[in-house]
Amino acid sequence: MSHLTLDDVTKIFHDDDEGEIVAVDDVSIDIEDGEFVCVVGPSGCGKSTTLRMIAGLEDITSGEISLQGKIINDLPPARRGVAMVFQSYALYPHMTVRENMAFGLEQSTDLSDGEIDDRVTEATDILGIHDLIDRKPNELSGGQQQRVALGRAIVRDPEVFLMDEPLANLDAKLRAEMRTELQHLQEELDVTTVYVTHDQTEAMTMSDRIAILNDGKLQQCATPLECYHEPGNLFVAGFIGEPSMNFFDAERQGSTLVADRFEYELSEQTVDTLPDTTSLTLGIRPEDVEIVDTKLDDHDYDAVVDVVEPRGNENTVHLSFEEGQVDTFTATIDGMHQVEWGEDVTVRFPEEAIHLFDTVTGEAVK
Ligand code: ATP
Repeated sequence: MSHLTLDDVTKIFHDDDEGEIVAVDDVSIDIEDGEFVCVVGPSGCGKSTTLRMIAGLEDITSGEISLQGKIINDLPPARRGVAMVFQSYALYPHMTVRENMAFGLEQSTDLSDGEIDDRVTEATDILGIHDLIDRKPNELSGGQQQRVALGRAIVRDPEVFLMDEPLANLDAKLRAEMRTELQHLQEELDVTTVYVTHDQTEAMTMSDRIAILNDGKLQQCATPLECYHEPGNLFVAGFIGEPSMNFFDAERQGSTLVADRFEYELSEQTVDTLPDTTSLTLGIRPEDVEIVDTKLDDHDYDAVVDVVEPRGNENTVHLSFEEGQVDTFTATIDGMHQVEWGEDVTVRFPEEAIHLFDTVTGEAVK
C-alpha cells in the first residue's frame, strides 16, 4: 500500500476578476513509505497548492488524499500526521530555540514536559544546534534558523514532512550544505517527504522521484535519471536539464526528418518504432551534441560558433547553422576543447542520443 496517495486531486480557486483558476488539475501520485519526492515546475504551476492540500491548509475541490489507506480530505491539519516547513522560517521572535521547538507540541499534544524536552533535545542533537538552544531567532544565522524550523517539524514525529522551498532564502553555499544535511536527515529519519522547489539541482540530487507539474497538470513522476534520460514529453525534456535540451521541428518524409536547416536520416530500427505522425520534434541534449574533426555521415552538419561560455571543466558553446542566424543551439563540450567565436565547425547529432516527440501532442515517441 502506498503511504501517501493523491487520487485525481483538483483545486479550483474562484477569483472575482479572473473567474475560475484551476490551480491543480486532476493530479494522481502514489508516494511510498520513506520516499523523498520533489515537486517542481514553473512559477504558478500548482506546487504550493498541492502541498497545502496535503497539509490540510487548503480545501480540495475534488479527488482524494489518503495516508496509509485512510482518506484525510476532511481531517484538520493538526490531525493529519504531517509537519510542514516553510521558506520563511516562521519562528516566533520572542521565543528561544527551545521554546520555538516545544511550542507546537505543547499546544497540540498531551505530551508531558519531560517528553517534550526529550524530543527537543533529540532534534537539536540530530541538527547539531544543541548549543543554540537558549538563543532567540535574531541571534541566529539564516542556516541556523532554518535548522530550528526543521527541528520544529522533527519534534512532531510526523508521518510525512512537507517542505515548501525550505532552502530558498539561503545563499548558494549554505544551500548546498543544507541540501546534503537534509539528505542525511531523511536517511536517518526515513520519513516520507514531499518537497517543493524551484531549484533543479535540489530536485535532481535529493529526490527518489521528481513530480513535474505544468499548468496544474502532472507531466511526469519518475526518478531524476528517468526524467533526464527518458522525458515523457516536450515539457519535461525542456524543463529538466541545464542548459536546456535543443529542439528542432521537422517533417518526417519516410525515413528522413526534414528540419528547417538540416535533414536527418533515421535508421530502419528507429523508423520501425515510430508512429505514423509526420510532425516530429527532434531533441538533443547539449552534452550529446559533438563537435567533430571530420564530417562523416547523415548526422553531421556544418555550423558556426556564435558564443563560447567557458565554465572551467566544460565549455557551453552556442552555435548556429549559418552565421548571423538567430536560432541558435547549444553544445556542452570538454573544458580542454577550445573553440573560437566565429569558427566553422562540424557538429554531430548521434542517433542513439536523439529524442523524438510528436510536435502536436508533445508526447515522446523515441
Ligand atoms: P510559485 O513557484 O510561484 O510559488 P506554485 O507552483 O507554488 O508557484 P501555486 O502557488 O500553487 O503555484 O499557485 C497555482 C495557481 O493558483 C496560480 O495561478 C496562483 O495564482 C493560483 N492561486 C494560488 N492561491 C490562490 C488563491 N488563494 N486564490 C486564487 N488563486 C490562487
